[in-house]
Amino acid sequence: MSTLRFRALKETFNRKPIAVTEPERRSSIFGANVFNEHAMRQYLTKDSYKSVMDAIENGSKIERAVADHISTGMKEWAISKGATHYTHWFQPLTGATAEKHDAFFETVENGQAIEKFGGGQLVQQEPDASSFPNGGIRNTFEARGYTAWDPTSPAFIYGTTLCIPTIFVAYTGEALDNKTPLLRSLQTVDKAATAVAKYFDKNVTKVNATLGWEQEYFLIDKALAASRPDILLAGRTLLGHASAKGQQLDDHYFGSIPTRVLNYMRDLETECMLLGVPVKTRHNEVAPNQFELAPIFEEANLAVDHNSLLMDVMDKVADRHNFMVLFHEKPFAGINGSGKHNNWSLATNTGTNLLSPGSTPMKNLQFLTFFINTIKAVHDYEELIRAAIASASNDHRLGANEAPPAIISVFIGSQLTEVLDELEKVTNGKLSPQEKTELKLNVVGKIPEILLDNTDRNRTSPFAFTGNKFELRAVGSMANCAMPMTVLNAIVAQQLIEFKESVDGLIKDKKMKKDDAIFNVLREYIKKSKKIRFEGDGYGEAWEKEAAKRGLSNNKTTPQALKANVSKKAIKLYEDLDIMTKVEIEARHEIQVEEYAMHIQIEGRVLGDIARNHVIPTAIRYQNLLIENVQGLKNIYGSTFKKFAGEQMQLIESISEHIAQINKGITDMINERKKANKIEDAEKRAFAYCDKVKPYFDEIRYHCDKLELLVDDEIWPLTKYRELLFTR
Ligand code: ADP
Ligand code: MG
Repeated sequence: MSTLRFRALKETFNRKPIAVTEPERRSSIFGANVFNEHAMRQYLTKDSYKSVMDAIENGSKIERAVADHISTGMKEWAISKGATHYTHWFQPLTGATAEKHDAFFETVENGQAIEKFGGGQLVQQEPDASSFPNGGIRNTFEARGYTAWDPTSPAFIYGTTLCIPTIFVAYTGEALDNKTPLLRSLQTVDKAATAVAKYFDKNVTKVNATLGWEQEYFLIDKALAASRPDILLAGRTLLGHASAKGQQLDDHYFGSIPTRVLNYMRDLETECMLLGVPVKTRHNEVAPNQFELAPIFEEANLAVDHNSLLMDVMDKVADRHNFMVLFHEKPFAGINGSGKHNNWSLATNTGTNLLSPGSTPMKNLQFLTFFINTIKAVHDYEELIRAAIASASNDHRLGANEAPPAIISVFIGSQLTEVLDELEKVTNGKLSPQEKTELKLNVVGKIPEILLDNTDRNRTSPFAFTGNKFELRAVGSMANCAMPMTVLNAIVAQQLIEFKESVDGLIKDKKMKKDDAIFNVLREYIKKSKKIRFEGDGYGEAWEKEAAKRGLSNNKTTPQALKANVSKKAIKLYEDLDIMTKVEIEARHEIQVEEYAMHIQIEGRVLGDIARNHVIPTAIRYQNLLIENVQGLKNIYGSTFKKFAGEQMQLIESISEHIAQINKGITDMINERKKANKIEDAEKRAFAYCDKVKPYFDEIRYHCDKLELLVDDEIWPLTKYRELLFTR
């Protein structure tokens, strides 16, 4: 009997739900471990408080002397909450979060000690972070990198550590993290959107991008997960035959949440409340053992930090409940994978959601302006969006007939399509009073009404308008939201800048009225961006053909998709907007293609190991049993034994064939890996891994999975799909 698998199963069957205690009211603990406005009012002087608020609201600099005051207040608050350590908390280009804890504790003269945390330690640190990916920007001989406080994301206590969100940059100024370009993109889109919003409301002085992510994940018993080397090392199953029952009955989606899982969620949500992560929604997802969690949306930088923090908290709480969280986009073949929908919008300091239709024609013109500009931005830079969501793991999901395809398109629903069709007919030049009245009454004025019953949401679209926000659905569940958000902010900012120039140009040169000019520019954008709009089934083959005809990109693999990031067009965009320099862009590209190749390399090694060292020996053991059986039958029946041993003999042959195929596959795969490893150029290496190495995965897996069906269940060493997916 295969001990690891059966021990794990036994352990799982014996589990009891872990008891959790929840506060009576969540609101009473919300943000209790966050150095938020409430805590700052208590622990900071008026001037320090004002200085932080000013930095948050207007991006002003915090003076060093003030930082000393702030750090003292922050330390007192943290110690009162039981914190002993502090850390700069940042997001290097690994995609995960990084922390290095230092104690508040310092020794002073006479063998005494105090708790100390100065302004310097708050504002800047120099982690010995030479092992983070830097794409050649910062090798160990050059200047080191440093982390710097980001006051727009409040410090929080996690466990007994005060965590201070920071950016991570090289001394020469290049960003080494995900947050720095995101912050730059937020500033850029703020400026561009504020200028346009002022057409409609002079009181607007700031525009924030907002983000509400929806996090999908799988929850697998810890013992079962640990019994699978592929889950442990690659985050997904590299082989395993489909379970007889999967998700075909649709009985998991929105079903009743299993008690063990529910207790996990309750515990997790309590942690989130303390950390000020406003989680609100939880439910079962489509696949067995798949779930989803969604918060109330927030300012995008904070939301990105909260999602990164959440993923870390999810891991830790899962451990308490004897679960392992799988964030991988496709942990199991044949059933749905996981994504992270990024709901995005723009909100003004006056409280208006710029992508929400309003109650007056003027407000609706504002809505249409931002709506159409966003569509145009996606049209112009669709390849950058595709690149922003590219990863080895997300490749399994995009285009796999369950998630959005690798083709980026925009879904807006039939009613808004009608509105755009009407606007496309607007007169060239000045509009007559009749035309304007007609537009106000029958087109622009009707939007709020029609949106209310606009329920035809298209689940197959990668970028869908859902009433008052756009939803980028193609983001991977493992991804850091910063990258897709940076791209979206950047391209919309660029688009709004162009829009403003065109409108101002018409007002000045053609003496047009403001709304005439706006209608004229929007009309042209509607025409120009038509090909990105698609209302049909994004999963179908017909769409692939149609998209190709339209000239839309269809970059199916990560190495292919990432190319767009280093195109002339992309470099110009990011440099013009001061979001990333050419050096930063190229460094990132280098890191990503390298990461891709390593990812596939690891998977290839794990698969080779499992197939050769677990699957084949087991198959041989079973084959020996069959051989013994056949020999026995021959002993008893002599020359007529074949009448009774025919089936067994066929099995013996099949097993041999599968074993041969597996061995051949692995040998060939290793040869391709060796060839790929010799390639100097990182991008070419990534392509080699993608096109030459990866194709063997399916082939090797196919034969392993066939053996799983043939071999005695009692000796099969790998925990099976039905056990992973239906034990909870
Ligand atoms: P679903 O897409 O699953 O039907 P909802 O439409 O209710 O779910 O919302 C999904 C997410 O969208 C939530 O996280 C919510 O906070 C977020 N959201 C709602 N409005 C906005 C907005 N203006 N900006 C950003 N995110 C938003
Ligand atoms: Mg959604």
